[in-house]
Amino acid sequence: MNTFPKIHIRAGREKSLLRHHPWIFSGAVEKITGSPSEGAIVDVCAHNGHFIGRGYYSSKSQITVRVLTFKADEAVDEVFIRNIVMRASGMRTRAGAVLSSDSYRLIFSESDGLPGVIVDKYGDYLVCQFSTAGSEKLKPLIVSALNDIIQPKGIYDRSDVDSRSHEGLKPEKGLLLGAEPPEFVQIVENGIQLLVDIRNGHKTGFYLDQRESRRRLGEWIEGAGEVLNVFSYTGGFSISALKAGAGCVTNIDSSQGALNLCAQNVGLNGIDSAKSINITGDAFRVLREMSAEGRQFDIIVLDPPKFADSKAQVMKACRGYKDINMVALRILKPGGRLFTFSCSGLLEADLFQKIVADAALDAKCSLQFVERLSQPCDHPIHSAFPESAYLKGFVCVKI
Ligand code: SAH
Repeated sequence: MNTFPKIHIRAGREKSLLRHHPWIFSGAVEKITGSPSEGAIVDVCAHNGHFIGRGYYSSKSQITVRVLTFKADEAVDEVFIRNIVMRASGMRTRAGAVLSSDSYRLIFSESDGLPGVIVDKYGDYLVCQFSTAGSEKLKPLIVSALNDIIQPKGIYDRSDVDSRSHEGLKPEKGLLLGAEPPEFVQIVENGIQLLVDIRNGHKTGFYLDQRESRRRLGEWIEGAGEVLNVFSYTGGFSISALKAGAGCVTNIDSSQGALNLCAQNVGLNGIDSAKSINITGDAFRVLREMSAEGRQFDIIVLDPPKFADSKAQVMKACRGYKDINMVALRILKPGGRLFTFSCSGLLEADLFQKIVADAALDAKCSLQFVERLSQPCDHPIHSAFPESAYLKGFVCVKI
């Protein structure tokens, strides 16, 4: 077996690694022997020289190493990558009935054993995101394993994420293998048809992680009420509600492109276009205007973007969540239901629940928390990597 450059960990700083947390922060590194290139495979050793793990190196990121294996005799090679893809794909295939979609997250970075790598399946196409120098180096092996094992029509790269700059990488986007995807890929989710813009949509094109909550919203619709879908993107929640019998949905999003696609999605599902109203603008402002006009809704969905990217932003994020939930509760009818979400991983579910409770106090109402929502099984939470639990939501009834 090859010998690799070695990253020596400071005494007392190996605890999280021994619990198989895969990140080594620069402050935990005592010294480096050998001269690893950016993204190269390195061995990680305890202060006493014992092997701890093998992973890839970054000199630029605060995370110096992301560990790929804790087994000394395991090589990071073609077989290693193929095994990861087969295991990840096998889990999703066996969960077919639970997923209830032809589109899902096939590889969820650390949770599937491949830090820095996201692969989403949209119908017959795969879309990848490589966010680190090490994952970029593994790209050829990953793309070839995906092609052999999944046999998609095409594999597209959406590595145009800001976080790549922390690793000294430029954004990249384009076809990696096979056929160019069409302008919009049509997917089916819980029996609903949706168009996904792989090239220019948010993330890899769609918010696959809200699939189960979109289904749950449909199940909570009874009677032809009025639904407000705040931060609607391309209308996944709205179509689920309309298909389940909601009378009318108002969508609010700052992205005109997303709302245009929402209108197309409504038509694609045979729904009368008059039942779906789009408002382009800042949700905080539009909700306040609706409150001033005395508008009232039966059901409100609040699915904002991530408010906290770092610990320093958590306090500000808490204020943002409290404010948007408070304004939403003011325009929710008594007995109405609020579906409220946070995808900020740094904010734990219990704290989020307290924020929503505080928002209710400020809105001069009470709430019953009747259901907890989370990320679906294609976004697994890894036992050694609590950071992989990021999405939480509550169904609340206003009383
Ligand atoms: N619920 C959606 C996903 C929402 S993602 C789904 O199921 O697909 C968050 C959305 O919020 C994005 O579409 C983004 O364009 C929008 N957004 C971000 N900031 C906003 C703001 N200040 N006002 C309105 N929309 C905003």
